Amino acid sequence: MAATSSAPGQLADTAGGYDPPAAAGSAASILRRQAQRESSARTYARSLPVVPVRARGMTVEGADGTRYLDCLSGAGTLALGHNHPVVLEAVRRVLDSGAPLHVLDMATPVKDDFTTALFETLPKPLAEHGRIQFCGPAGTDAVEAAIKLTRIATGRAGLLAFSGAYHGMTSAALAATGDTAVRAPAGADTAITRLPFPYDYRCPFGVGGERGAQLSARLTAGMLDDPKGGVPRPAAMLVEPVQGEGGVIPAPDDWMRAMRRITRERGVPLVADEVQTGVGRTGAFWAVEHSGVVPDVMVLSKAVGGSLPLAVIVYHEELDAWEPGAHAGTFRGNQLAMAAGAATLRYVRQHALHERAEEVGARMLSRLRGLAAHHPCIGDVRGRGLMLGVELVDPSAEPDDRGTLPAAPHLADRVRQEALRRGLIIELGGRYGAVVRLLPPLTITDEQAEAVLDRLADALTAASRVPVPPSRTPHPADRP
Ligand code: PMP
Repeated sequence: MAATSSAPGQLADTAGGYDPPAAAGSAASILRRQAQRESSARTYARSLPVVPVRARGMTVEGADGTRYLDCLSGAGTLALGHNHPVVLEAVRRVLDSGAPLHVLDMATPVKDDFTTALFETLPKPLAEHGRIQFCGPAGTDAVEAAIKLTRIATGRAGLLAFSGAYHGMTSAALAATGDTAVRAPAGADTAITRLPFPYDYRCPFGVGGERGAQLSARLTAGMLDDPKGGVPRPAAMLVEPVQGEGGVIPAPDDWMRAMRRITRERGVPLVADEVQTGVGRTGAFWAVEHSGVVPDVMVLSKAVGGSLPLAVIVYHEELDAWEPGAHAGTFRGNQLAMAAGAATLRYVRQHALHERAEEVGARMLSRLRGLAAHHPCIGDVRGRGLMLGVELVDPSAEPDDRGTLPAAPHLADRVRQEALRRGLIIELGGRYGAVVRLLPPLTITDEQAEAVLDRLADALTAASRVPVPPSRTPHPADRP
């Protein structure tokens, strides 16, 4: 079945859509030139051979006229989907006002308004005692800033980070990332203590559930307290309230509270990386609100820029030990992103889109669980709000001692391809690249949610028809 041109969420109007330069030629020739000219590090470009030329809401139109439902949303960036009218209006207003677009980190009315809009949404203690640092434009820049800030404020170097974590691709942030395949070659293994994240389905302690999370907390406290344990008191603990790239793994609320208690009692700043979970995605405006934990530092990017590049950290004023210029960067004043971000933050808040995310997400989760009953290749379904994951496994393989089957990365790759053929853009994540991730915009309609699940179900059926290659415990090198 080919991708349809009758996807729900039609591009409401194509006026103002991008007209590709005539010389660009067909989608196929653009893709061919990309493969010839761009670096072999390119990522989404490989798995999603689409040449987007128009987009509105959840719908993306390729240069060949094919329309897709976008469940990737710029890797979780597009809280309001593509080109939401309030975002476009905010950007146009700045452009038409004659305001400078580049201002380094100087004060502007646009920045002032963004900061106000952001502080209105933050957990109260951070809103009342918070400082904001505008960072370079990517999430990884803000993670770097958080690490540097806590190192300077505490005078310590070490960091606590978790298995499966993803914090970015620059060196210190990379060092906190769990994927050895990208970390080791960059020589990033300095001063990081890696702790087990409570991953229920593949519990590092082999017990899962509440007990697995308790053991993770116990190990964390024990490592910090053991004078001969080899772990010096760290500058910070970095945690994602829901691991995204690591395979959509929500941290249990009790475990988050335990991490807060353990770090507070030992004078270790807690850094919540909400780059992907923020702005309503998980069913709360900020994912830390589920547990009531107030971190010392929040790292924010993706949706806070309303689809344009913007990254900030917000932290307790007591940590503000930076000298002037201690953290600088040319691109910290993106006025268009600040305007788009302020508009997005206000829209999500005014329309309680986090509640909508919770409601639609719960319905999608339950339908995905229903699918699992008919697809033995679905090992686990999990998520929070509109951050959903389906872990694919090889049903013909030997289960481990807990009855868990090995991950099926090749099958997941096929599901992604079959989904694309049916007009659905999805991405993969997880330890072995075997977790189908769904990150639709918070504006997804009920009809679109149904269409996503129908197409995914079809894709699973089609992909499962082809036999899975002989299985063994997957190795990172298996990742397609
Ligand atoms: N932290 C988290 C939790 C992320 O998901 C990501 C990106 N997926 C980053 C940091 C890095 O953000 P960026 O790609 O913008 O550098």
